[in-house]
Amino acid sequence: MPKKMAVVNYHKCRPEQCDSGVCAAVSACPRKLLKQEAPHEAPMPSPYACQNCAKCVLACPLKAIELM
Ligand code: SF4
Ligand code: SF4
Repeated sequence: MPKKMAVVNYHKCRPEQCDSGVCAAVSACPRKLLKQEAPHEAPMPSPYACQNCAKCVLACPLKAIELM
């Protein structure tokens, strides 16, 4: 079975509703695999080295990150 990785559901992600536009999932990832170019922008995940730990999933208040 292919390994799961974090994917951002851009239909659910609302950075303007997050703390000062800062994505909580970015700082939750122990491998720093999510990047936010600037506040109020949706994060971009990197599929490489995702360890499927779900910390980013749990950190997002809008459940916009899924493991697929
Ligand atoms: S992924 Fe979640 S925590 Fe991050 S900006 Fe989008 S809604 Fe906010
Ligand atoms: S599942 Fe874990 S390793 Fe993968 S992006 Fe989310 S926090 Fe990072």
